[in-house]
Amino acid sequence: MTFEEFKSKIELYHHQGKKVFTSSSFQTHSLVMLHMISRIDNSIPIYFINTGYHFPETLTFRDQVAKEFGLNVIDIKSTTPKMMQKDANGRLLFTSDPDHCCYLNKVQPMEPLLMEYDVWINGVRGDQSAVRKAMTVEQPAPNGAIRFHPMLDWTMRDIFAYIKEHNLPRHPLDAKGYSSIGCEPCTRKPDPEMHERESRWFGMKKVECGLHTDLVKK
Ligand code: SF4
Repeated sequence: MTFEEFKSKIELYHHQGKKVFTSSSFQTHSLVMLHMISRIDNSIPIYFINTGYHFPETLTFRDQVAKEFGLNVIDIKSTTPKMMQKDANGRLLFTSDPDHCCYLNKVQPMEPLLMEYDVWINGVRGDQSAVRKAMTVEQPAPNGAIRFHPMLDWTMRDIFAYIKEHNLPRHPLDAKGYSSIGCEPCTRKPDPEMHERESRWFGMKKVECGLHTDLVKK
């Protein structure tokens, strides 16, 4: 979807009286959609799911980008304290049950937003995983909301061309060899031959956090 198509769609949602929000993990490749939103309507709320496990560099980068683009960024987090997020051996859940850890820290905090808003602008791209490739530009989400995926047909090459054209900032961990950056315990530096998503939950037989599987209406 081009910038003009994205803009028209947002204007249509506004015209229809729909309440719109977006979410972002504030990685380098997330910045293209955020930058376009800042050019269309920078009052659109941008929710950052603060799991408590992010790299400090991500939090600094989030604040830098919010300031530079003039964005309305809001943190959300799990209502379950970390002391209640342990397995039977007393270890934090990401070590033994990452699906449940992601559910408590990522999926659950998003659920109330899907009751409050009508449209979730979501930056998934088809080239990131098979699950995402099967998605459509507009899809029903739980609680009557719609997921809107304006970046679905963008490739990594398109993303970096836009970043270069608009001279957008880069996540500080890019320079250290990271590509897909999520929570610190579940992110590693990829080997040269690895797909970007393979650097997440390495060795855990997990490729998605649940935001793009649980929060899609079946
Ligand atoms: S990515 Fe890892 S640490 Fe973050 S919520 Fe999921 S399992 Fe927990």
